[in-house]
Amino acid sequence: MKYSAIFAKTTKQTPKDEVSVNAKFLLQGGYIDKLMAGSYTLLPLGRRVERKIEQIIRTEMDKTGAQEVLMPLLHPKEIWNETGRWETAREVMYQFEKNDKSYALSFTHEEIVMDLIRKHVSSYKDLPVKLYHFSTKFRNELRAKSGILRGREFLMKDLYSAHASKEDMTHYYWQVADAYTRAFEKIGLKTIIAEAAGGVFTSEHTHEFQVEAESGEDTIYLAPGWKYAKNKEIMTDEDMARSDVKAITSIEVGNIFPLGLMYSEKMEVMFTDKDGRRKPIWLASYGIGPTRVLGTIVEVSHDGRGIIWPVSVAPYVVHIVSINQDAGALHDKLSSKGVDVLYDDRDAGAGEKLSDADLLGMPVRLVVSAKNAGKIEWKERQTADTELLTEDEVVKRLQELQRSTVTL
Ligand code: ATP
Ligand code: MG
Repeated sequence: MKYSAIFAKTTKQTPKDEVSVNAKFLLQGGYIDKLMAGSYTLLPLGRRVERKIEQIIRTEMDKTGAQEVLMPLLHPKEIWNETGRWETAREVMYQFEKNDKSYALSFTHEEIVMDLIRKHVSSYKDLPVKLYHFSTKFRNELRAKSGILRGREFLMKDLYSAHASKEDMTHYYWQVADAYTRAFEKIGLKTIIAEAAGGVFTSEHTHEFQVEAESGEDTIYLAPGWKYAKNKEIMTDEDMARSDVKAITSIEVGNIFPLGLMYSEKMEVMFTDKDGRRKPIWLASYGIGPTRVLGTIVEVSHDGRGIIWPVSVAPYVVHIVSINQDAGALHDKLSSKGVDVLYDDRDAGAGEKLSDADLLGMPVRLVVSAKNAGKIEWKERQTADTELLTEDEVVKRLQELQRSTVTL
């Protein structure tokens, strides 16, 4: 891809009200654009990263046997009344009236999934059901101060599983937890599982996938001997008093909920079991926010000059900077070999191109210059070292690296 052709270039300006690192670099890099607080466009570069993140998550979800769907975002009030959430979730939900009918914009999908299940499941033979989708969520977030980490409109992958027994639900729940850990690892994030309270929806603990980050809004606690970290809200006085408890700030990138029977009982979602009896189904739900994940990578992987993308989700694996010379032939060659390549073909100064390459954060930077006597300068974003390589060596190395990124 030629940089001159990409919609939205780097800029030195950022909106005054943006304080977070992710918003600053993503806005300056032309990865996102801000419409209003908590509402962003993913520009072509940002969308490429998000699509790679999405593809890694999708692959892991499919491996658990889940099936992808796409559910509506416009919901009638009646469905939310069945569980009482039209009232209890009023603060977070965008609700409105049109032609004397009341609607809400999707902030989650448990009720919608349960409606699907009661229409399409009748017997234990139809269970388990594992459905997920990637779509927009709307939430009336009051603290929309963390850039793309906390949108009022954001992307979520939400998975819902329905089971004939608690045992089956629990078994699948931990299978998904493993799939989450693997997906985050591939994305380049190390996650810590933290237990959290289930709130009004379940007496069981839920589990959050947390990434340690100075800028995180959450605090979790770790202690020797604990299998999982703990969220602040479930720390007892005794836990707090331990001298070996360590508190860290973190960003929640995923959350899984063993919801149990509450939804099926309220919405009468039943199945006929082997013994011929009608029983309520067991429900669990699982969420990851791909746009928050994108922002989290920037929060934990940057330096003073810009973003440092992990190869797996980098929009392009390599960024070519040419100095007083045309590098179109190298771009075309790499591109024809299937390498995700970005070529800064602008008529701009070397300093500007090099600092833009640091801001944009592709894993490898190549400098093509008459000074290099026919060789190409290779530099990896996270290190200061440079090497001079032949074109064949460059092609070979990049083809190797390309295997570690998602193919779009
Ligand atoms: P938080 O406690 O951070 O507000 P939550 O617990 O309300 O999040 P969940 O309902 O568990 O969020 O949503 C599942 C996932 O969706 C989260 O783990 C996160 O990755 C993402 N997510 C939630 N809220 C937002 C938001 N406002 N903006 C971007 N991503 C979000
Ligand atoms: Mg959560």
